[in-house]
Amino acid sequence: MPLMKSWVASANDANHPFPLNNLPYGVFSTDGTEERCGVAIGDMILDMAAAEETGLITISEIAVFDAPYWNEFMDLGSDAWAELRARLIEVLKEGSADQAKAEPLLVAMADAEMHMPLVVPEYTDFYAGRHHATNVGTMFRGAENALPPNWLHIPIGYNGRASSVIVSGTDVRRPWGQLKSPDHDIPAFLPCRRFDIELEMGAIVGTSSDGPITVQEADDNIFGYVLLNDWSARDIQAWEYQPLGPFQAKATATSISPWIVTKDALEPFRTDTPEREFELLDHIKDCGPMLYDIDLEVTMAPDGKDATTIARTNYNEMYYSAAQQLAHHTTAGSPMNVGDLLGSGTISGPEKENRGSLLELSWGGKEPMTLETGETRSFIEDGDTLILKGNAKGDGYTIGFGDCVGTVIAALDDPYKR
Ligand code: CA
Repeated sequence: MPLMKSWVASANDANHPFPLNNLPYGVFSTDGTEERCGVAIGDMILDMAAAEETGLITISEIAVFDAPYWNEFMDLGSDAWAELRARLIEVLKEGSADQAKAEPLLVAMADAEMHMPLVVPEYTDFYAGRHHATNVGTMFRGAENALPPNWLHIPIGYNGRASSVIVSGTDVRRPWGQLKSPDHDIPAFLPCRRFDIELEMGAIVGTSSDGPITVQEADDNIFGYVLLNDWSARDIQAWEYQPLGPFQAKATATSISPWIVTKDALEPFRTDTPEREFELLDHIKDCGPMLYDIDLEVTMAPDGKDATTIARTNYNEMYYSAAQQLAHHTTAGSPMNVGDLLGSGTISGPEKENRGSLLELSWGGKEPMTLETGETRSFIEDGDTLILKGNAKGDGYTIGFGDCVGTVIAALDDPYKR
């Protein structure tokens, strides 16, 4: 599919992240106004609350866009999702009869503040990148035992905290926790020394379910995708993780990009999962291409200095698709709700420069990276800004996600001081 042209001129640039082909959904506010739903088109945001109020866009009898989340719209179901996309294209395409009515409802993105685009009832994080799992497993257990025996049969995950999911641009404070160094017999309570990122994609459940669903049903139920940075305290994790997995190591923050890129926008970029070493059991077997060809990148900038690209990889490196993860998630009967967020797991590729965490990039701190500023890093230092970027490259257009940004600020002197 080629670039669809819009009367919003900035949307027609081949490298702009928000052409008419994309139309991602966010929540924004401008000075002194309420948070409401908006759709990105070029450098502008279409104010969906205003579009609904003026009758330009009507999808349901009750107003769903004058709200600080997209959950009510998602809950209308996939027919409504298709109807809105079709109507937005009609309104925003070159030569649209609605241009005069829509033009006053555009807000410059530069004047807008972005907020969480949805309410996240529950957040689950997976561990479905083979290169990442192999790298981490090799560091912790040796190359022979890198992948746990279950890994090639089920997408491993754990239930995370929805309450600490935050929107891009929110600072992240370095956590305190129990750390135990190999030289000591007992742990100490200290600020984290090995604070890290995890480059992930987040899948958003748009249709609720109650009981086991198939992989195809799971794919149908996914509304869209965001970039996701699952901030991780490696030293807290190393002490706490056996036998129940990460807990406080992953409880500080999970940042997501502000725009939900819909499954429809990503349709031309579907790819297959890699070849299987073991045939998957029927309930999570592939039934079509359900991964996406999305180029991913991480930059790191020390306080007040230029950014260095520290990793480049692609979402198609995953072993399991989000649809397989969602299907697996429901196997034992767990209901899924509109807005539930599924982290893919860290997305690393085969080469060193493809690694999606500092733990891997610095090989557990043994091989510090050198930034373009000349500084070295094994893990994140206070004041460092980490940015995740994602782009799918089409025929003369780009489907971008909008940056997922987070700056790490110093730990409190005393986290229990009131
Ligand atoms: Ca993770």
